Amino acid sequence: MSVLRFDNVSKRYPGGHDALAEVSFEVAAGEMLFVTGHSGAGKSTLLKLIHLSERPSRGAVLFGERNLLKVRGRRVPLHRREVGVVYQNHQLLMDRSIFDNVALPLILRGMRRGDIGKRVRSLLERLGLGARERALPSQLSAGEQQRVGIARAVIGEPLLLVADEPTGNLDPTLSAEIMALFASLPERGTSVLVASHDLGLVKRMKKRVLVLDHGRLADDISPEDLADE
Ligand code: ADP
Ligand code: ADP
Repeated sequence: MSVLRFDNVSKRYPGGHDALAEVSFEVAAGEMLFVTGHSGAGKSTLLKLIHLSERPSRGAVLFGERNLLKVRGRRVPLHRREVGVVYQNHQLLMDRSIFDNVALPLILRGMRRGDIGKRVRSLLERLGLGARERALPSQLSAGEQQRVGIARAVIGEPLLLVADEPTGNLDPTLSAEIMALFASLPERGTSVLVASHDLGLVKRMKKRVLVLDHGRLADDISPEDLADE
């Protein structure tokens, strides 16, 4: 079963050239993969089409059975509940506790307080942040802050997590930790798509890699191919 399918997708921004050109690929449920390429290759644009920050100029994006062309208006926030997003700069609320930051998506969804508490605490424990729930983001290290950003993105148990340069501000050791955390998500039902221009880091993960070059899908490398190198 596929969680995501790009069918000949092109995207041209007003006045620009093709940021994406005839891109097709499919992501299986439970898969983790990367999209890489030079700056301006179209990585961010590809992710934005999935959480509906942008719309394709041509072609179709399918999320499970859902054709995203048909998702409009009130259906957009409902779709976004199923797609967790992690940014380079975690975008945490700096005047709210770690607990509140992670609980927010569940509060917005109207979940009961008691259920929220249990679920947030159990996730924070799993991510090694259990002792930090009352801290403010500014009291955490950069790596911890990014883990909180990931916790907030996965607390709603999305079918797919998309991450745009999630380790852009982290040193190699912390980057590897964050990648290991992503790699643990598929077995819990969340597929993971990570955009990164850090080829060394990407290759070490031994996962499938989509390579964008000036908006075109130049390569789709399987983990087996990477193992041969
Ligand atoms: P990447 O994430 O790989 O760096 P982007 O998807 O951000 O690539 O950008 C792809 C191309 O689209 C670049 O040429 C970029 O300048 C252009 N682009 C991105 N966003 C916009 C926008 N909002 N308006 C016009 N051009 C854009
Ligand atoms: P990122 O790659 O993290 O999106 P950028 O600095 O490339 O960061 O882009 C920041 C914002 O500016 C994005 O919303 C992107 O869509 C927009 N943008 C990028 N390139 C262009 C461009 N050539 N013209 C207009 N907007 C752009």
